[in-house]
Amino acid sequence: MGDRIDISGLRAVTIVGALPHEREIPQPLQIDLSLEVDLRDPGRTDELGDTVHYGLVADRVVAAVEESKDILLERLVARIAEEVLSFDRVDAVDVELTKLRPPLAVDAATTSVRIRRTRADADLPAHTTHRAYVALGSNLGDRESYLRLGVRGLGNVTAMSSVYETDPVGGPEDQGAYLNMVVEVETSLDPFALLRRCQRLESEAMRQRVVHWGPRTLDVDIIQFADMSIDSAELTVPHPRFAERRFVLEPLAEIAPDRCPEGWDSMLESGGVHRRGALAFD
Ligand code: ATP
Ligand code: CA
Ligand code: CA
Repeated sequence: MGDRIDISGLRAVTIVGALPHEREIPQPLQIDLSLEVDLRDPGRTDELGDTVHYGLVADRVVAAVEESKDILLERLVARIAEEVLSFDRVDAVDVELTKLRPPLAVDAATTSVRIRRTRADADLPAHTTHRAYVALGSNLGDRESYLRLGVRGLGNVTAMSSVYETDPVGGPEDQGAYLNMVVEVETSLDPFALLRRCQRLESEAMRQRVVHWGPRTLDVDIIQFADMSIDSAELTVPHPRFAERRFVLEPLAEIAPDRCPEGWDSMLESGGVHRRGALAFD
């Protein structure tokens, strides 16, 4: 069985049912949800953006139930499933809806309906992921461990270049050599959320911005994001300077040569970038 998030015993009061008094007097319902969600990403990253915010799911479901005036539990339970599937990361949901005080002539504790709906049932597209290329660099402190911190924190890394040792380009004269690499990430984050993640990783590495292009424990730049072009104050994609940087192009060519501009290796002078081998993980 796959990963799940369960929300049980949610209560809401609403109009539901076919009998005359049921059209007038709201009645108490219980909602039990079991969401199928891939929890591997949040298991690694510890980030809310990578999972389904179950507080929000609970709020939205209760609000939808309270707004509704359906006759049949069957209709209401389908409505709940639709609401839950509107959360992008939910692959499927089991919903059980219980009338806590069913209007029956015989003695019965509760009545309930239970359904399971998948994205395909709901005619919703499978949630989309995008492929992004992210460059990491470090020239201060334990450079490899900062690269590891970056790679581990990026989520679903699907390809990783070797590590390259690179003479610094631009910035102060006396800074140390860089270690650089590029990774491919399969992500369901949007580009701006991915940028925030990159920035969070830089602050985890306790990067301090002292001088422009100065030494740093960790720099994490988005090189390309799917085939998107973005030009905003916060984010430019593709990265405006990647095509002139050998320390980006060499590692990028190793994992995604089709993402490099045509003939890039003859356009650039050689030297200054030395391949060191794979990043070691302990
Ligand atoms: P360079 O951009 O030339 O590699 P840098 O990495 O040293 O220089 P930073 O100080 O790390 O520059 O970043 C400055 C700002 O660049 C960030 O605050 C971020 O908002 C912005 N930025 C724009 N596009 C990107 C991108 N594709 N990836 C990462 N940051 C970006
Ligand atoms: Ca940079
Ligand atoms: Ca940067």
